[in-house]
Amino acid sequence: MRRASTSAAVEPDLALATSLFEILSDSTRQGRGIVRDSYGTGEQSAHDIMRTAAAAIGLEISVDAIGNLMMTLPGRDRHAARIVIGSHLDSVPQGGNYDGAAGVVAGLAVVSALKVAGVRPSCDISVMAIRAEESAWFDVAYLGSHGALGLLDPACLSVRRSDNGRSLEQTLLERGFDPQPIRERRRLLDPGGIRAYLELHIEQGPTLVARGLPAAVVTGVRGCRRFRHARCVGRYDHSGAVNRPYRSDAVAATVALLHYLESVWVTQEAAGADLAFTAGELYTDLAMHGPSKIAGETRFVLDIRSVDDATMDLLVDEALRAASRIGSDYRVSFDLGDTTDSPAAIMDARLRARLMTLLEQPFEMPSGAGHDATVFARVGIPTAIIFVRNAFGSHNPDEAMSIDDFAVATQTLLRLLMDFPL
Ligand SMILES: [Zn+2]
Repeated sequence: MRRASTSAAVEPDLALATSLFEILSDSTRQGRGIVRDSYGTGEQSAHDIMRTAAAAIGLEISVDAIGNLMMTLPGRDRHAARIVIGSHLDSVPQGGNYDGAAGVVAGLAVVSALKVAGVRPSCDISVMAIRAEESAWFDVAYLGSHGALGLLDPACLSVRRSDNGRSLEQTLLERGFDPQPIRERRRLLDPGGIRAYLELHIEQGPTLVARGLPAAVVTGVRGCRRFRHARCVGRYDHSGAVNRPYRSDAVAATVALLHYLESVWVTQEAAGADLAFTAGELYTDLAMHGPSKIAGETRFVLDIRSVDDATMDLLVDEALRAASRIGSDYRVSFDLGDTTDSPAAIMDARLRARLMTLLEQPFEMPSGAGHDATVFARVGIPTAIIFVRNAFGSHNPDEAMSIDDFAVATQTLLRLLMDFPL
């Protein structure tokens, strides 16, 4: 990228960012929380706000067939593959002001700064406001990014919005968009025309607050292997009358299985592997269980996540082997059922390494939550995510990101852009 003749360092336009966060909050707050419903009035307001800001900066503006908004600072070579800075503008019902929107605001804050400083990038830089990332409204995540890359199953057009029952197809048509590319699985964006996809996002867990760090580089987005319908079958018996050698206690066996898998997690973690293991549902049969009974059945979920597919496969194998061994020890039978799989997405090694050198307090961490970046990474586009410290988690009205932390992450994004080509 060619720098401006002035040697002054370019700084992100934080005044613009602050004002955009305020306008977003004022326009899309309902009661305590933020409501930017996917393809609804809340999300549309956010798109209108960004579009107005982009026009004021002097960016080229386009909207694709399914409503993704592209705001572009033209580069010297208009045919060169471009850099996309993207994130989503929708929120869950009663969400916070920063999940998603921070990434789009960061994009505008850096391209505004480049434009004002007279920096002409070597290639186009597009800020992409992506539609409908949250699954809260249509029960399908990443509608906008999947749709842009031609990856949506056309069956999703008949999915109904959770609150008003309108189908996605109907909703798109009502907004003036075109469902046809989804029906044809047609790409609206050519992955070959994208040099890098960069996303700034608030951290949705407690790590950066706990470590006292303003920002982090994301190593990868965890994939998931989930035994959604696992079951352990033993035998109902009297809790006082049946001694241990004669029991088939489904609860005791299930606890032994969970305890063993927890120990594998601890061992893997000590060896440096990334892993998260959760049994978020575990229950006995309400109609059959009782305080004086040995439980004859449990149903549970095993949710296994990692940035490394091999680590998830290892835990799946361990679960299957342990279920067989513990099943025979406890005279019960486990049926873990099939797994639903979503692969991990690794962030680009060169972008990660460069971002680490740009952070004053370099820190890398996995993302446990999915992001639009996942979709871009999976089609082979070099992708990076920068996390910003955020208190109180996300998907709730209490999200708290300071503008100082946002400034650190956005400055890092700007310096990365100034560095291209890597
Ligand atoms: Zn998000």
